[in-house]
Amino acid sequence: MTHTPPLPDVRDPLTAPFWAGLRERRLLVQRCTECATPRYPAAPVCPSCLTAGGEWSEIPGEGELYSYVVYHRALSPAFAADVPYAVGIVELPDRIQIVSRIDAPPESVSVGVRMRARYVDVTPEVTLLHWEPVVRGGGEHRG
Ligand SMILES: [Zn+2]
Repeated sequence: MTHTPPLPDVRDPLTAPFWAGLRERRLLVQRCTECATPRYPAAPVCPSCLTAGGEWSEIPGEGELYSYVVYHRALSPAFAADVPYAVGIVELPDRIQIVSRIDAPPESVSVGVRMRARYVDVTPEVTLLHWEPVVRGGGEHRG
């Protein structure tokens, strides 16, 4: 028997633009139209100035691994074949932090490594955001 992983409601008006962005391989976050504070997860009201609503803007899907945990026991039967796996908090520009699955062996990640968004199509409607380490080519010059 196969188990279906829990999926988000991508039609929820509050978060639908976020999910639509993932389908297009874009990372969108809400930004306050009054004070420009970015926010994730989406919320009906700005936590800084209490202005209702907001606009959606794209941010770079690359940041730094802030913290992570390794799951050794599946909390859903759908993930039983995946353990052990890592889930991490990635800090993006504007101090936005997003928690998601890390698609790399847990022993290969550590706090502070660069991570980038990985867009995982789960169903025709649902694309999830995962993280993967940024692997720089050997001998590559920076700057
Ligand atoms: Zn605001």
